[in-house]
Amino acid sequence: MKRKTYRIAVIPGDGIGPEVIEAALEVLEATGVNFSFQHCEAGDGCFAKHGAALPEETLKHALESDAVLFGAAGDTAADVILRLRRELNTFVNLRPVWALPDVPCLYPKTKLVIVRENTECLYRGIESEITPGVVTATRVITQKASECIARFAFEYAQANEFHKVTAVHKANVLKKSDGLFLSSVRAVAKNFPKIIYDEALVDAVAMHLVMQPERFQVIVTTNLFGDILSDLAAGLIGGLGLCPSANLGEHHALFEPVHGTAPDIAGENIANPTAAILCGAMMLRHLGEMASAQQIESALEETIAMGQTTPDLRGTLSTMKMAQTVIEQMKAR
Ligand code: ATP
Repeated sequence: MKRKTYRIAVIPGDGIGPEVIEAALEVLEATGVNFSFQHCEAGDGCFAKHGAALPEETLKHALESDAVLFGAAGDTAADVILRLRRELNTFVNLRPVWALPDVPCLYPKTKLVIVRENTECLYRGIESEITPGVVTATRVITQKASECIARFAFEYAQANEFHKVTAVHKANVLKKSDGLFLSSVRAVAKNFPKIIYDEALVDAVAMHLVMQPERFQVIVTTNLFGDILSDLAAGLIGGLGLCPSANLGEHHALFEPVHGTAPDIAGENIANPTAAILCGAMMLRHLGEMASAQQIESALEETIAMGQTTPDLRGTLSTMKMAQTVIEQMKAR
């Protein structure tokens, strides 16, 4: 039987985005799965060239693809990735924080997941100047989106053998907005009696994550808190170079590293490609190509165990050399 060819819109973007996405594409090609990669422009460079940060053609390819692989966008991030998430209606941002074996890090046993609401909160970008020197930002929280993200978090926990979901909020201060978020999550939690349901204030969670990350399994939270906590959590397991994420909706999926453009190391070919490669593995799982996803993950672990890494993990390899070592490990199996 002829194997399916997956249409993937590839949007490398700015900074280290193109470097890590190129590395991930080589690894994906090495799986033997049939892909048709459609390379698309977006981001700061695209804006400078064409006057649009997210050209209509890129959006069209993203909407028509089986999945999108995205690198990073710099100053135009709000016009690129926030718009893509909205247009693709990916209401979930799933951020697994898995410590990989043999990575030098603070908490080598960490295994938690941040389920971040992806469409509202302060990231709606509704800001106004009331008068010079006074501005406001509107935090949008709806019952519908809160229930949707809660349902996803509990179903994810159930399907992936996690026993606990923690709703992270600041309802003692943000009484109406996080009050609504919490009441919505509580209503959903009642339908999952086998899963322990817990609530915690976001500031306390920041401390507990640093001191006892094992307290958490699945964290469900609003957009801004989820963004901040996932960078914090990345620090527990060895840094931003290691953390992939998936933006998921009913009809579309977009995979992107948690890290941004990392301007301090952009252009040096030393960015760790692990997050981008793991995005590729998450994408393969989403497409149902489980064996190939597993093949990539195992080869990556092997590569790291051999110390064949970029400088952020105390290795000496370039981005592409690390990706090529992963491919060698895939072929050696
Ligand atoms: P942006 O504004 O685009 O989000 P940023 O300055 O916040 O950029 P991030 O990309 O979020 O930068 O990364 C923060 C820091 O983490 C970087 O400055 C870099 O040192 C490190 N870092 C991020 N990604 C990687 C990577 N793939 N490999 C190695 N180090 C990384």
